[in-house]
Amino acid sequence: MADVFNFSAGPAMLPHAVMRRAQAEFLDWNGTGVSVMEMSHRGAAFTSIANQARNDLIELLGIPDNYKILFLQGGATLQFSMAALNLARMSDPADYVVTGSWGQKAVAEARRFCDARVVASSEADQFHSIPPVSEWAISSDAAYLHYTPNETIGGVEFHHVPDIPAHIPLVGDFSSNILSRPMDISRFGLVYAGAQKNIGPAGLTLVIVRDDLLAPVRDDVPAMLDYQIHADSDSMRNTPPTYAWYLAGLVFDWLKQQGGLAAMAEHNQRKAEMLYQAIDQTSFYDCPVRQLDRSRMNVVFRLPSIDLERCFLVEAEAAGLLALKGHRSVGGIRASLYNAMPLDGVMALVSFMQDFESRMG
Ligand SMILES: *Cc1c(COP(=O)(O)O)cnc(C)c1O
Repeated sequence: MADVFNFSAGPAMLPHAVMRRAQAEFLDWNGTGVSVMEMSHRGAAFTSIANQARNDLIELLGIPDNYKILFLQGGATLQFSMAALNLARMSDPADYVVTGSWGQKAVAEARRFCDARVVASSEADQFHSIPPVSEWAISSDAAYLHYTPNETIGGVEFHHVPDIPAHIPLVGDFSSNILSRPMDISRFGLVYAGAQKNIGPAGLTLVIVRDDLLAPVRDDVPAMLDYQIHADSDSMRNTPPTYAWYLAGLVFDWLKQQGGLAAMAEHNQRKAEMLYQAIDQTSFYDCPVRQLDRSRMNVVFRLPSIDLERCFLVEAEAAGLLALKGHRSVGGIRASLYNAMPLDGVMALVSFMQDFESRMG
């Protein structure tokens, strides 16, 4: 295998140990003589894989009994619609806190199905910070409040679950920071995440929903968009993304072997600190995000000119540091440091940055 570090924001790198295990089991899962890809989703073999993954996730996140875990398709983007469709009627207010482009997309989609309102936004600050909860104009009768705990493009992360009135279900799009540290699921009504950043391959979407929110509040929700129907059929209303589900299960198993989410939190904190320190110790690199709101998962930074950024990316790639280009909507550099990124990858990046500056600065 080529000696590279892949900083892609998503689909992102998976742990090498997981990839090797998937390779070893690829043609013959557990002596069945067939690949996981080739077996019925309703057979005993896949049922055991599916249940193991679900149970390991419950253990990792400490998910309480009154929540259902769904393994769906359609990405986080379909959850922009499903959250609104299941939780709000057309005339119901639903509150959105927008701290970046994913939050903007979520509220734009919800407007098709309910009275979605932006109750706080950091757009005036170019999404470089999080507005304090005390300034959120929360609707007392909101069907739910939606926020984006980690904005993958802007590199802005909530480091605490916002305190909102208990009667309003809190909805979080955890696509890019789920499983990166322990979290208290009981604070949420609904949590969702596309798999391809910190869970597994693309094609799988994880949804964790509290029992009292399972039944849609409106009666015209298509079956495939209905949380209750998915829960009642154990996410097998139709053929689920079996291989992605299996791979996610391997990742959960790997996380347990690493010491669970507390160990991941420490690992991720260490990596992010190392990179932010390298950025902050020189004026050659600049991170535009407010210190307290910086993401541990997606570290964004700029160089003094677009030409230098272009040159940085070309040289980084030649040095085996891949996919560091910032999102096309914002430019600059972005290093994604999900669970699977080893400390060695960050050390290699930091030493490349120091060398680049010494030559070009
Ligand atoms: C990537 C991402 C999405 C979109 O995910 P899809 O699975 O492609 O629909 C939504 N929200 C956040 C925070 C993301 O990082």
